[in-house]
Amino acid sequence: MDGRWAGKGAGLALLAVPMADAFDFTQSQIQRNLSNYLGLDGAISIPHTHHCGGGVTRVLTQSTVNHLQVCPVLGRNSAPHNAVRDVLSHLVVQNGVTNAAVVERRLTAADGGTFDADVVFFDPSSRARVILEVSIVTIESDTSLGRGARAGLNGVNAQLRAREEDKRNHSVVRRLLNEAGNNTIFTPIVMSACGAMGPSMVAFLKEVYGRAKATDKFLMSQQPALKYTWNTMVTSSFWDMRLSIACAATDAKLQNRTILHENTLNLPSWRSSPTPIPTTRHTRRRASLPLPEELRHEMQHVFDFGIENCQTHAQPVGVLAYITAYLI
Ligand SMILES: [Zn+2]
Repeated sequence: MDGRWAGKGAGLALLAVPMADAFDFTQSQIQRNLSNYLGLDGAISIPHTHHCGGGVTRVLTQSTVNHLQVCPVLGRNSAPHNAVRDVLSHLVVQNGVTNAAVVERRLTAADGGTFDADVVFFDPSSRARVILEVSIVTIESDTSLGRGARAGLNGVNAQLRAREEDKRNHSVVRRLLNEAGNNTIFTPIVMSACGAMGPSMVAFLKEVYGRAKATDKFLMSQQPALKYTWNTMVTSSFWDMRLSIACAATDAKLQNRTILHENTLNLPSWRSSPTPIPTTRHTRRRASLPLPEELRHEMQHVFDFGIENCQTHAQPVGVLAYITAYLI
């Protein structure tokens, strides 16, 4: 384990018991999380040609393959953020903090400046409008955090706290909070991609769980709409785990998508193999099986948009046909 996995809540997703829908994720997601946690390569063969976006290609080696854990390609920046945002809007309602929360609400300051808030709700007990602003920090390699668990913990907390300050210092947010008669509470919700929670998030959740106790919702049996597991019997363990999974498992899914996408890009094609390659069972090297250009396009489509989002089944069928030919 390296320093990135330090901090309250980090790696919590690895403790999830997949007996309820909320804690269900795929084998490839848990494998990716475990590989990252244990410092293994996972399903990446080294050296790995990485397509970093903007036409930049780089060859990752044992010492630089960590980059895949922080690379922002293929929507990596927005997906975990959106997953955490949606869990938060669910959490404040379920724990009795408010009756309704909206996501992605554009707020306008008196001078016309706008700010797109992630979650906004009215808190009847404090009579305040509450803004939750979500941010996911991808912690760079452990070398930037120093050696030893304590250095890792301090390093992660420092980075999470710095991001909280950035969010609080947003010029429109400051103007919104300072307007006369305004009763708004702004709370930055900052997590590391490994699931560690920033101090402001920890304090906010403590307050929410206290409110759940006060309104007889602290035991998950008192939130009957939700299925829970034996290690998430109270609201704090259930929702901490939900948030950690939303962040770390979504991040793992995106990392896997990047790796699959690149494995496709890295396959040799007809065009790049002018010399016919022997294809008898005894002489063929799997890595050298050529890929027709149009099928490469179809495979990219599947990996870009997900098999579930393909308009027809033509692409998955084409890809399966190729994989079958590849394996036989
Ligand atoms: Zn990259």
